[in-house]
Formats: sequence, structure tokens, C-alpha cells
Amino acid sequence: MGEPAVVDVVVLGLGVGGEEVAGRLAGAGLSVVGVESRLVGGECPYWGCVPSKMMIRAANALAEARRVDDLAGRATVTPDWAPVARRIREDATDHWNDAAAADRLTGKGVRLVRGRGTLTGPGQVTVGDDVFRATRGIVIATGTAASVPPIEGLRDTPYWTNREAIEVERLPGSLIVLGGGAIGLELAQVFARFGVRVTVVEANPRLLAMEEPESSELLADALRRDGVEIRTGVRVERVGHGADGFTVHLAGAEPVTGERLLVATGRQARLGELGLPAVGLDPDARFLTVDDRMRAGEGIWAVGDVAGHGAFTHMAMYEAGIAIRDILGQDGPPADYRALPRVTFTDPEVGAVGLTEAQARERGIDVRVGFNPLSNSTRGWINRSDGFVKLVADAQRGVLVGGTSAGPSGGEVLSGLLVAVHGEVPVERLRSMIYTYPTFHRAIEGALPDLGR
Ligand SMILES: Cc1cc2nc3c(=O)[nH]c(=O)nc-3n(C[C@H](O)[C@H](O)[C@H](O)COP(=O)(O)OP(=O)(O)OC[C@H]3O[C@@H](n4cnc5c(N)ncnc54)[C@H](O)[C@@H]3O)c2cc1C
Repeated sequence: MGEPAVVDVVVLGLGVGGEEVAGRLAGAGLSVVGVESRLVGGECPYWGCVPSKMMIRAANALAEARRVDDLAGRATVTPDWAPVARRIREDATDHWNDAAAADRLTGKGVRLVRGRGTLTGPGQVTVGDDVFRATRGIVIATGTAASVPPIEGLRDTPYWTNREAIEVERLPGSLIVLGGGAIGLELAQVFARFGVRVTVVEANPRLLAMEEPESSELLADALRRDGVEIRTGVRVERVGHGADGFTVHLAGAEPVTGERLLVATGRQARLGELGLPAVGLDPDARFLTVDDRMRAGEGIWAVGDVAGHGAFTHMAMYEAGIAIRDILGQDGPPADYRALPRVTFTDPEVGAVGLTEAQARERGIDVRVGFNPLSNSTRGWINRSDGFVKLVADAQRGVLVGGTSAGPSGGEVLSGLLVAVHGEVPVERLRSMIYTYPTFHRAIEGALPDLGR
């Protein structure tokens, strides 16, 4: 091992967050080393957001075509996975090749070092035989991996995580999805719409347990209509695998069988692999603890999934911006998570921002709730769309602290609620606004009267 190479900043992990930090700091004139053990760009473009949304786009096209019989005559729909797999391979991921992303990054002046980096002392990162000393700081942006629960028998089976599910070229006849969160449900619906017999197994009493109970109900109904079998409130005791595929044994309930098994039970930051004790940080923590400038320690910043504020690409980008400003000594607002948006890209789509009703009550807020089913709005009725708008207001302050927009383009309708929560727009002002007719977002206006005066 030679002398350490001295640079301004080392960025560990070049997913969404790390790529942004490295590129912008290099653009600002700092000398930056970016370390990546797999693909520049990380999970989102190769095994996450982008390919999964391509799958969803295709599956929704099938569902829309199946609605023709109801609305406009007759349509015969013959699903074919080949164009979806091809589009993911060729358009989205370039066969899981990051050459273009790497060129883009080095074009900004970042020195790209391929390999697994570990912290080996204050300001020091080691990658294989190379040692780097960062004079300004280290940014940890190592993301998360699929979390695989310690269920008896599971580890020895050829289970899928999101990676295998995204890379699949030939669909199985049947699929068990462990986990009823956003990723599990999005993929469950996609595969079901392509003709796979899908069973979702969830330990919580309801799907999408972090969101409003009305969202859980809406999605359970929609998924059932797509033919998905839903088993909630069940505990998995053991997983077996043989020539016929997988058997998931449940406590006190009939076992579930399937040709393939997808584990979608959450994400995990692998802090134990980063050498954190060398800089006095806890390798056994779930996530890195950061302050509102994304500082995790002396000369150390952490952004994105690894910082534990929510595993979303927009979170990684947002936190990257804060860390960049702090490293460059620029002023700017500190991190503020009050108006955190998230979207489950199922059909109906579930967009949500800020607090749920239950979270607001837990915080002792004087809560008022507004609810409007989409069928009450003209557009919802015309389109025969299921969904709703739910508003959560702080009656003392007269502002929204959360909201859900579920239905067609629920994630787009969310933007109005996002502005209201982030900007603390008084509910009175929301009442005096003009809402376009006949749009889905007009259902927001219909939920306001419930909030009282
Ligand atoms: C199926 C799926 C669908 C998703 N859909 C959405 C969506 O629709 N919208 C949304 O906002 N989010 C979505 N996400 C989440 C989103 O992908 C992540 O939040 C985002 O990728 C986080 O970015 P990051 O930079 O924190 O980490 P990552 O993208 O995980 O990147 C971390 C990088 O660090 C590298 N790395 C790790 N350890 C080391 C090390 N020691 N040395 C060197 N390199 C290392 C990894 O190889 C990786 O490239 C989805 C995720 C999945 C799995």
C-alpha cells in the first residue's frame, strides 16, 4: 500500500445521492474521488425506480385495454413480457452497463475508483490497495440493499429480491411476494396483470401499513380484482423449496405455494461493511444518524437511503443538495422532513405527504380530517375511478400537516397537497382557491368542508 492520495472529498457509493454530490462538488472546483463497488447510478436506474416504472407502464396498458369492453367495444389482450424485458435491458439499463453514467461523472471532473471502499481512519478511505485522504470530508452514500428476514429455511432457497424480479426474462407461473409495502405491491400488480398467479404475504394486519388505512383497503380491493391473493396478519414460520417451487408455512394458516418467491420486506443499510469504528461511528446502528446539515460526524456527511429518512430517490437528491451546500460553506435551509412525499405506483396510485392521521394524533396535534371519495368528484365518476383524497389538518394552526391522494395519477394530484403542507398554506386560503373542473385534483376541494371552520 502506497502513500495516501490527498483529495478534497471522497464520496463512498455513487448511487443517486453520491453521484449528485460528487458531480456537483467537482463542478465547484473541488478534487473529488467517487468510489463505487457496482454500477454508477445505484439502485434506482438499474433495479429500482426506472425499470419498475417501465414494468408498471406496460402492466397499466394491459389493464386499460381490458377496460375497453366496459367502455368502448371489444378488445382482445394478449400479454407478452418480451417487450418489457427488452425495454429494461436495452433502454433503461444498457444491459446493466454503467459506461455512459461513468463517462458523465468523469466528464464533470470526478475521479472514479471502482471497488468497495471502507473507512480506515479519520478522513481516510481505502479501496483495495488504494488509500485516499480527504481534507474536506467524506460523504457516505452507500444506500440500502433488500433486507432478508431471518425466516427458517429462507436463506438456503433461490429467492428473488428486487434485483432478480427486475431482471426476469421469463415470467413464472406463480409468485409469492413476501411483504406488502410499496415495492412488493407494485411488483405484485405488474406480474398479476401479466398473468402470473400472485399471493402477497404480509405480517401486518393491513397492506401499506405505513400509510392511511383507507389506502390499504383501496389497494387490497384493487389487487384482488387483478387476481392477487392477499394474506395479511400472518406470521411466516418457515420457507421450503423443492422441485415444485416454494412453500411458505404460516403460523396457524394454510401454507402458500408458488414457483418463485420475491422477498420485499424492506431495505437495510449495511453499516457493518463500512469500517465505521475507524471514525467512531456505530456499525450496529440501523442507519447513520445525521444532523440537519447531513453531518454524521467530524468531516463526515451521509445522504440518501443510508441516512434513514426514507428510501426515495427524491430524498437522496434533496439530502445531497444540503450536504453539498454545507461542504461548500454556502447558506441554505437545513433539512426539513415535514412535507416528505411518497408515491406507491400501483393502479390506483397512492400519493401521500407529511403525517398520516394516526401519526398526527400520536404527536398530540389537534387533528381534523377531511375525506372525499373520488366517485364524488365529476372526473372520478366519469372515469369510474376508485380513489379518494384525505386531508389531515392541525386545527390550532389552521394548516394541513398531511394528505393522501389516491386514484388515477394520485402521485401527480399530490403536488397540490405537497405545496399546501410544505408552504403551510392556511386552510382558509385553500378554500378560496379555484379548482379546475373536471379534474381529479378537484376532489381536494370536496374534502375541505370536513375540516370545519
Ligand atoms: C424496486 C424498487 C423501486 C423503487 N422505486 C422508487 C420510486 O419509484 N421512487 C423513489 O423515489 N424511489 C424508489 N426506490 C428507492 C430508490 O431506488 C432509492 O431510494 C435510491 O436509489 C437511493 O439512492 P442512494 O444514493 O441513497 O443509494 P443507492 O441507489 O442504493 O446507491 C448506493 C450505491 O453505493 C454503492 N456502495 C455501497 N457500499 C459501497 C462501498 N462500501 N463502496 C463503494 N460503493 C458502495 C452501491 O453499489 C450503490 O451503487 C425504489 C427502490 C427499489 C428497490
